[in-house]
Amino acid sequence: MKILLHICCAPCATAVLEKLRNSGYDVTGYFYNPSIHPWKEFKRRLDALKEWAPSVDLPVIYNEEYPLENNIRMLLGSDNRCFSCFADRMKKTAELASEMCTGLFTSTLSVSPYQNHEFLKRAGEAAAAPLSVQFLYRDFRSSYKRSIQLSRDAGMYRQPYCGCVFSERDRYLKIKSPGQI
Ligand code: SF4
Repeated sequence: MKILLHICCAPCATAVLEKLRNSGYDVTGYFYNPSIHPWKEFKRRLDALKEWAPSVDLPVIYNEEYPLENNIRMLLGSDNRCFSCFADRMKKTAELASEMCTGLFTSTLSVSPYQNHEFLKRAGEAAAAPLSVQFLYRDFRSSYKRSIQLSRDAGMYRQPYCGCVFSERDRYLKIKSPGQI
């Protein structure tokens, strides 16, 4: 069965891809992460994925939009910036799954023990509902260590913070982002 996999970064994609393929899915990746700041960091994560994906025969669609002003406005205007950030990414992925007639989508965010899975599930299901596509929620957190191992073996860049400028600050202040648990 075909599935569109939203990819937050290459390290998280390693173990999720393995799991999905082992379950028989035919996976296409989709990179869409406009909240990553600054642009240099965005480019670094994008390039890490572009380098790794061909080595595992993973077709990936790259959305390289970087609407900084709109993104900052969205994050600042939200009661919970992480939920809005998830919702934006799941909406775009659902739209692409609908256009591609894939019918099913999921996200590598589900491998992270630091992300709020309830937010992800809600955002994915809300994005899927109006488009007659389905969000596959799977709790891949047990594969997190595997993703570390696979990404280290591949010599991949591993980022030290979630993505947005707030999370970059919070890592130094040791503050949890509102989407983290
Ligand atoms: S901490 Fe992560 S999930 Fe939350 S808004 Fe920033 S980039 Fe998005």
